[in-house]
Amino acid sequence: MGKLDGRVVIVTGAARGQGEQEARLFAAEGARVVVADVLDDRGEDVAKELDALYVHLDVGREDDWGAAVAAVKGAYGRIDGLVNNAGILRFNALVDTPLDEFLQVVQVNQVGCFLGIKTVAGEIAAAGGGTIVNTASYTALTGMAAVGTYTATKHAILGLTRVAALELAHQRIRVNAICPGAVDTPMSNPAQLDPTADPEEMTRALDELYSKLVPLGRVGRPEEVARLALFLTSEDSSYITGQPFVIDGGWLAGVSVI
Ligand code: NAD
Repeated sequence: MGKLDGRVVIVTGAARGQGEQEARLFAAEGARVVVADVLDDRGEDVAKELDALYVHLDVGREDDWGAAVAAVKGAYGRIDGLVNNAGILRFNALVDTPLDEFLQVVQVNQVGCFLGIKTVAGEIAAAGGGTIVNTASYTALTGMAAVGTYTATKHAILGLTRVAALELAHQRIRVNAICPGAVDTPMSNPAQLDPTADPEEMTRALDELYSKLVPLGRVGRPEEVARLALFLTSEDSSYITGQPFVIDGGWLAGVSVI
């Protein structure tokens, strides 16, 4: 018995990184997974490997959400779960951030999450209930210089999560958020995308950097985040809704002065 046997779950941003690992773990646990992304070639490869459905979905576009839901309904007839995972990061001091850049990050991270809830919740309710997991961040709960736009959108995702949990509980939909610290994906380790670079070397450098910042002494792995997403998508979390779950190696616990 898999933890997600028979359930149809959409994972956005599933062509790589945390979303890809979530798709892999969910498929291994018996879900019919929908890999959704804007990276079509890579997303289709992942979906093919998992015997899953790939849909092109720019999460910031409402018409894309409508088409994606129609494709999933056509293929599987129902939707039981959604992981709003797609996200982008931009580095800039707030006072140097062009408005276009601010709006671009809001469109993907915050509007994307809102549209996912808005479009998919009714389908999950029609299937008898299910789960939505929103991907926030460590920066949803504290500030971080140079990523102000990203931080603002991740705080907003927690607000969306709490309100959606309140509004959707009567339809048997649980809504929670995951708040990862630093995780070894292309977002924090761009060497993974450079065919000439050694990603393992970069992972070692990240582990070294975070050994000074994080009590558990290393950067997180996307497979570890996927296990938290599985917990919140499965019946193991049946009495939990509206909550942020921090997965950061202890980074947020506080500072050490000795
Ligand atoms: P990643 O860059 O490796 O993956 C992000 C995925 O989202 C990619 O496949 C990308 O194509 C997709 N995506 C981007 N814009 C999209 C759009 N408009 N529509 C659909 N898909 C889109 O990064 P990741 O680390 O796997 O990030 C996954 C989530 O985790 C993001 O929400 C990110 O903010 C969050 N997060 C990451 C870290 C980290 O350190 N890596 C930490 C905290 C939170």
